[in-house]
Amino acid sequence: MRRPLYAANWKMHKTRAETVRFFAEFSPSVDHRDDVDILIAPPFTSLDTAADATGGGSIAIAGQNMHFEAQGAFTGEISAGMLVDLGCDAVILGHSERRHVFGEPDGLINKKVDAALAAGLTPIFCVGEKIEEREAGQTEEILRRQVTSGLEGIGDPQIMNGQMVIAYEPVWAIGTGLTATPEQAQEAHLFIRTLLEELYDGEIAGSTRILYGGSVKPSNIAELMAKPDLDGVLVGGASLEPEIFAAIVNHA
Ligand code: PEP
Repeated sequence: MRRPLYAANWKMHKTRAETVRFFAEFSPSVDHRDDVDILIAPPFTSLDTAADATGGGSIAIAGQNMHFEAQGAFTGEISAGMLVDLGCDAVILGHSERRHVFGEPDGLINKKVDAALAAGLTPIFCVGEKIEEREAGQTEEILRRQVTSGLEGIGDPQIMNGQMVIAYEPVWAIGTGLTATPEQAQEAHLFIRTLLEELYDGEIAGSTRILYGGSVKPSNIAELMAKPDLDGVLVGGASLEPEIFAAIVNHA
């Protein structure tokens, strides 16, 4: 049984005061949802504030990125241990903006996934094809490469307890208003789940949550979540307003 996960990626938005205001409105509207998991990834500067605002409650907090080393001369970076110290439960890794704006390759993302798991964080490991790759019929090839490289060397015990979350985020659907159709999303999710079975086994494939991300909003959440291999969503723009993100979480 895979519990639905609704995850928010705030990207480079919200000061600490705005974070406090968000939680003051959002938390009461999802308080009753003990049947789903909710996770918010604020910018680094608001992690502490967000962790305080949840009051140790059921909303999990995530970083949006991290370095794979525990410490050292890496100006501008923060480590998995530092995220844990701030009260984080998870970390988004391999987001398309990290891959395509900041040039992060598969090998680097793999080191981050490994370090996150070792620190006890849940990696929200993002994969997804660009529009030209989809149009060239390369979607499955790209997903196979990203998933296989990102999980290289990650053993069964690390992934076994459901700690790993994969997010399918087609690059062409992120922040563009274009959403993959529920059928396109389901097809990609099933491909990833089948690949997990090939790389690990049926139990791991069946217990790993696979989120969809790309212009999710209250008007399309129900049809996406109706698909059998969609276990939740990773939401960017529509997670910034508490009432809109609450409408997504409370759609059913
Ligand atoms: C994202 O950044 O992960 C994302 C899915 O953004 P949006 O919902 O704005 O497309």
